[in-house]
Amino acid sequence: MSLECILSENSKKPENQVNAENVSFADIGEFTGIKDYVMECPDAKLTMNAKLFLKDLLKFTGMEMSFGYMEPNSVGPFSHKHKLNEEVYLVLSGNGTMTVDGRDYSLKEGSVMRIDPQGVRKLSSGDKGLCYICIQTKRNSLEGYTMTDGEIL
Ligand code: ZN
Repeated sequence: MSLECILSENSKKPENQVNAENVSFADIGEFTGIKDYVMECPDAKLTMNAKLFLKDLLKFTGMEMSFGYMEPNSVGPFSHKHKLNEEVYLVLSGNGTMTVDGRDYSLKEGSVMRIDPQGVRKLSSGDKGLCYICIQTKRNSLEGYTMTDGEIL
């Protein structure tokens, strides 16, 4: 069974998409429009409203990244953990709560949180709704970063 997720036919679509040598690009619109994206995982019979995964769109090879939006005072559909990937959540706007292993962490604009793969997590929004980015990357895979990987030309 494949658990790949695809953009739903009735989803908002990214614009100005380019996949060229050495670069991938797309306009996904204003963050307030994230709620109009719909992703589907057909084999898992799962539909995710207000969610946009970027790996396939931008041909990522080392991470997955998604934008998500939750209406005010809503609770995520499930708790989950990961096999190999740690996740970083970055709150763009609104407020909410991330529950990890039974402990609640308050979220607001600018909150950043990393969660180990085995941490059982569940996201809830507060009275302002919640717009966020989630980045998944394989735990302990980072070898170089910033000036240890960059080359100034
Ligand atoms: Zn996750």
